[in-house]
Amino acid sequence: MDTHDLVLSGARVLDPETGLDTVAHVGVTGGVISAVSTRPLSGREHLDVSGLAIAPGWIDLHSHSHTVAGHRLQALDGVTTVLDLEAGISPVAEAYDTAAAEGRPLNYGFSASWGMARMAAVGGMPHGGGLAAALGAIGSPAWQAEASRAQLQALLGLIEADLADGALGIGLLIGYAPRVDPQEYVAVAGLAAKAGTPTYTHARDLVEQTPDLPIDGAEEIVMAAVETGAHMHYCHVNSTSLRQLDRVLALVERVRAEGARVTTEAYPYGAGMTGIGAAFLAPEALPASGIGPESIVYVPTGERVADADMLRRLRAADPGGLAVVHFFDEDDPADLAFVDRALLSPGTVVGSDAMPLTWVGGPPEPLAWPLPPSAVTHPRTAGTFSRVLRRHVRETGRLTLLEAVARCSLLPARVLEDAVPAMRRKGRIQPGCDADLIVFDPETVGDRATYARSTTPSAGYAHVLVGGRFVVRSGELLLDALPGRPIRR
Ligand SMILES: [Zn+2]
Repeated sequence: MDTHDLVLSGARVLDPETGLDTVAHVGVTGGVISAVSTRPLSGREHLDVSGLAIAPGWIDLHSHSHTVAGHRLQALDGVTTVLDLEAGISPVAEAYDTAAAEGRPLNYGFSASWGMARMAAVGGMPHGGGLAAALGAIGSPAWQAEASRAQLQALLGLIEADLADGALGIGLLIGYAPRVDPQEYVAVAGLAAKAGTPTYTHARDLVEQTPDLPIDGAEEIVMAAVETGAHMHYCHVNSTSLRQLDRVLALVERVRAEGARVTTEAYPYGAGMTGIGAAFLAPEALPASGIGPESIVYVPTGERVADADMLRRLRAADPGGLAVVHFFDEDDPADLAFVDRALLSPGTVVGSDAMPLTWVGGPPEPLAWPLPPSAVTHPRTAGTFSRVLRRHVRETGRLTLLEAVARCSLLPARVLEDAVPAMRRKGRIQPGCDADLIVFDPETVGDRATYARSTTPSAGYAHVLVGGRFVVRSGELLLDALPGRPIRR
């Protein structure tokens, strides 16, 4: 009989690819799943996890949470792989080097950032500095200007260099530069098609929201898939589609039926979060989203924005300052139905859009744990995946546990795996797959973070393993655990 490094015995094992949902034993050896068996296994270490469930760790395709502290919060939400594909990073090598030098609890990876490359190639801004620098510049008109032919070539060159450095596709924050020539978007999609990688888009506004944009945000994504053959991933279809959700989903379904590759992603909250300087948060742009200044909370002070004047002041003084934007009222059943329908739409994967921590009323303490109350963010950072299990599996029964597990692990892996073969070993509990495993209690798993207490970790996870190493053990975060590995193309 083989002896495994570790045996997790007696839990309900959930493998969404094979449909396995049964009590079994899982062996782990050398960071890899070495056995899945209904017969007892022998291990050098043995953990009885009966009464709990084992699933592949959640794979978050949309996380701007790049720090150890951010990873810890997500680990306690069951996440084992954290990818920033929507914004991405440029230069991407810098982000991989920083993460490798500092160490990360969870696996990590980045797309090539069209936006950051454009800030350099068109906006004349420094190339680098990561998400913090990009957020600070997000509202600046310079990077949103029309590109000359030479600038467009330079921009595409930067993106190609990032792809050569292992970037996981191309992130397109087109909604933050909504007047950019649609032909540029198609050119970037064409580059992705040629390279055999997906793109990941934060859509422009829809025509119902802002009629004078050069193209409808949803039409643009699906047309690029049809015209170029690129795999277009539609980020947070909940927060950019808003009340036009059904029109957008029908459009996506139609091109899928014609063979185009468009995947969708959503998070289960009614509010968004971004830099207050974003184009779509200008006072005159708010009616397009059906909101007013009072729908915005400026995170650094916790204040609700009183009026358009105050919004203008904040945008000028601190364009990268994070703001919670209440697009939907989660207490209103009609509004909540939009949020739910986005998440439950066919094939849609769960992606958190986890945000960086903002430190309020105290100095940054990035390695303190538990996080001090001065650390604030959007509750989706801490609670997205467990909220889906609580709400859609346990409370409403609209998803089976296995279906929810698929949307949080296998389906995100599949978005990437044609371009990134390493993802074929994730999102599954099968021999030879990576031992990114979570052990949780389906009866108690749930989010606890709220808009008022945004960094309260989720509950219900007994163990979280990344590459066979514990990051959470017996419900406790292991502060020295940094087993995260880079995921590169
Ligand atoms: Zn976004």
